[in-house]
Amino acid sequence: MQRETRLAHYGRQSLPGPANPPVVRASTILHDTVASYRATKAARETDDSVLSYGRRGTTPAHALAEAVTDLEAGEASFLYPTGVAALAGALQAYLGAGDHILIVDTVFPATRSYCETVLRRQGVTMGYFPWDCTDLSAYVTPQTRLVLVESPASQSFEVMDLPALCADAHVRGVIVMADNTYGSGWLYQPLALGCDVSVIAGTKYLGGHADVMMGAACARGAAVAPLRAQAHISGQTLAPDEAYACLRGIRTLGLRLERHGENALALATWCAARPEVTRVLHPGLPGHPGADHWRRDARGCNGLFSVEFTPGFALEPFLDHLQLFAIGSSWGGFESLAMPVSPASGRQFETAPAGPMARFHAGLEHISDLIADMTAAFEAVAGADHQCAGTG
Ligand SMILES: *Cc1c(COP(=O)(O)O)cnc(C)c1O
Repeated sequence: MQRETRLAHYGRQSLPGPANPPVVRASTILHDTVASYRATKAARETDDSVLSYGRRGTTPAHALAEAVTDLEAGEASFLYPTGVAALAGALQAYLGAGDHILIVDTVFPATRSYCETVLRRQGVTMGYFPWDCTDLSAYVTPQTRLVLVESPASQSFEVMDLPALCADAHVRGVIVMADNTYGSGWLYQPLALGCDVSVIAGTKYLGGHADVMMGAACARGAAVAPLRAQAHISGQTLAPDEAYACLRGIRTLGLRLERHGENALALATWCAARPEVTRVLHPGLPGHPGADHWRRDARGCNGLFSVEFTPGFALEPFLDHLQLFAIGSSWGGFESLAMPVSPASGRQFETAPAGPMARFHAGLEHISDLIADMTAAFEAVAGADHQCAGTG
């Protein structure tokens, strides 16, 4: 069955019944006999979708976890209240005192913070490697247990050669965990490319409407058991209303990403031709770092791209002039967004660009309105410059 068809049928209960799995708000699940209580406890040891107690999730969370497993081409998924909680929980499943983790230098800044604070305090040591590395020999130690990757990279979108990197890590007995928020299972499936664990911040495209926080970690093979144990022991789950909203968002994941992707590529191409722009970072543009890997391994691009402007460009006034792009962090909702970024800051293998940078999220608006909005903001900034020159 095609993916689009599966999106429309995730969580379907037996008929007659509602099209959506019901929101079940429950802590306690009641039984009328001890035997029934015991049987449920036994059943949940081998089946994550058994309704046993609120901390193990209820019906919509179970349906959502199964949907994520299918999207990610994995074997089991566990849900968390935020994307960062999913990354933290998944890292805790595989690392302990004395272990070493290798982290791609271009990782999401909050992930770097978690590793540098919590993991370090726990006695985990760490090192960073460049995004285009596929031979880890210069970076691994005898204690290396896990390689943490993110492709395309946060804010700058370099695309890694995941199949080659995973092959190298596996020869060394090291597992690979990917942050797959960019691809969200629809555009990119790290588990199918060789990774052992894939994490998605569902806050972004899975929810898709800027009103849900959610994280999911999906694993395959030997990586499943430690993840399941960690999720259960540490009491991680997703509340029923959040799971319901996220599952509703998933129904239109493919349709939305199609439009986000078209709009972002059109805007990125348009921006690249502007005289105020030095460089546009978008994995679908020819010549972008790792664009060949993306063409080989992915099924399209999302709504994100970053722009480096010429040195001295009045970035903040430009962003303030935009009417359809509000300023805000996060992305993946239906709306267009913009914010100043400095992807190189905090990285080891990169130096800051000469000009200011911004990251844009192309929403579901009509492309001609988005281009008109950017055109007006460029003109407003140029007009202000002209006035200064005239009166100065
Ligand atoms: C947003 C994001 C996260 C964190 O998700 P939250 O739900 O905000 O905690 C993790 N990784 C990437 C790449 C993200 O963009």
